[in-house]
Amino acid sequence: MSAIDRIGPVEIAWGDSPLVFSQPHAGTFLPPEMTAAMTDAARALPDTDWWIDRLYAPLVARFSATVVRTPVSRYAIDVNRDPSGASLYADRTTTGLVPRETFDGAPLWRPGMEPDEAEIARRKRLFFEPYHAALAAAIERARLRFGFCLLWDCHSIRSLVPRLFEGRLPTINLGTFDGRSCSPALRAAAERILANSAESFVIDGRFKGGWIVRHWGRPQARIEAVQMELAQRAYMEEAPPWSFVEDRAERIRALFAELVAGALEEARRLHAPGTVS
Ligand SMILES: [Zn+2]
Repeated sequence: MSAIDRIGPVEIAWGDSPLVFSQPHAGTFLPPEMTAAMTDAARALPDTDWWIDRLYAPLVARFSATVVRTPVSRYAIDVNRDPSGASLYADRTTTGLVPRETFDGAPLWRPGMEPDEAEIARRKRLFFEPYHAALAAAIERARLRFGFCLLWDCHSIRSLVPRLFEGRLPTINLGTFDGRSCSPALRAAAERILANSAESFVIDGRFKGGWIVRHWGRPQARIEAVQMELAQRAYMEEAPPWSFVEDRAERIRALFAELVAGALEEARRLHAPGTVS
């Protein structure tokens, strides 16, 4: 058992390596007053990054990763959005800091029960700020102990969400904020590994990385950040009850292990203590 710290509701499960897995959207907890304000469609939490914990658990053990996760649903507040409320993708439909609609466009809040400015500020304080304080702690510890941090932001999404993107997503959607959240050599290493795999993939396609990698990824400060947006068909059934499919998950874990190992190797080469970056 690794040591676990908490900042508010957010957990940091400490590992012993430069790798930090961020898991912002796997939570399903909502305070009862929020559930009471929600529509039936929202209460089913269809937009959760289901089973991310279970999918990644063997990788956490294998790499001795530190994990930052929140039990709170993204419907309360999305810790992977700009806290100013600005859109991540100005030219297309996306969900906001405190979302008002499901991915499919159904209203989240009952009429007249949408959160107001004061409520949004309260959720920032209770749920958003602790998540980023936990990331800050995990990243800083990795930099101090190992000279660098590899921040891997773990996500998954249904393969078909017509309101958010056209067609069927590739299995692997790696985001590097168009090459700004990690070093070019690390992005290139990931691309080589993906090109040699049997999985469909895109880098910086529809998903270029959300607020987490955009805000924290600073390769010049030895923080290498990538977002992994995985099509859910790769490890589960994409309809209720959202069953986990272990043999599919094993295939993806094997590829993720290669990717993480490749990224760590590049990051070590770039940022090993004593090198100039
Ligand atoms: Zn997500």
